[in-house]
Amino acid sequence: MSLVTLAIPFFLISVLVELALDRWRGWGLYRLNDAIGSLSAGVLSRITGLVRTGLLLVIYIPLYQLLQPYYETVGFNWSLDNGWHLLLAVVAYDFCYYWKHRIAHEINIFWADHLVHHQSEDYNLTTALRQPSGGLPIGWIFYMPLLLIGLPAELLITAGAIDLIYQFWVHTQKFPKVRWMEWIFVTPQTTAYTTPRTRSMWTATTAVSLSSGTACSAATRKNWKTSPASTACASR
Ligand SMILES: [Zn+2]
Repeated sequence: MSLVTLAIPFFLISVLVELALDRWRGWGLYRLNDAIGSLSAGVLSRITGLVRTGLLLVIYIPLYQLLQPYYETVGFNWSLDNGWHLLLAVVAYDFCYYWKHRIAHEINIFWADHLVHHQSEDYNLTTALRQPSGGLPIGWIFYMPLLLIGLPAELLITAGAIDLIYQFWVHTQKFPKVRWMEWIFVTPQTTAYTTPRTRSMWTATTAVSLSSGTACSAATRKNWKTSPASTACASR
């Protein structure tokens, strides 16, 4: 069973807790129709995700085997049991995901698929689960650079699951600001300032977003909804 599947009960419990707090405090973050739409998209995405992951592995594993002599020459020796290796794998995966996400925001044919994630008119934890299911089946291309560092398929899949699970909790508005975290990780504050169709593309690690030179400051307008392209960060 994948890590993401194991995390589903945690996702649902977190949504229920946020919903209960929303009703208790009167925040007005939830509408039933919007939340059901997000959850339905999430369920469908998990099913089609099996095909996407399968396609990635069908392409990645033969290429990895083909490059074995290169890995042996260079001395790559990744291990899933090594915590440092796993950490490096997550950062490397996050870098690839960054470009996949950024291109999804900048090129219309990719945006046509990814915009599902940004269509919610509310911003709460169910928004994290509103993931696309269609689009061009070429997302695997963005992870091919990981072959250059000899990342084994099991570490690729595990790092991808950790990266995806991490991004769940940042889709909330009510987590208090923790400044030290923002130097290392993306937080709900940084994610909420992501704007559609701009270069402000935060991923799981702040370092990746900043090193790509495209992360915007928190001064960017707060708007998760689909809207015309903003130039607020275009010069970065
Ligand atoms: Zn996006």
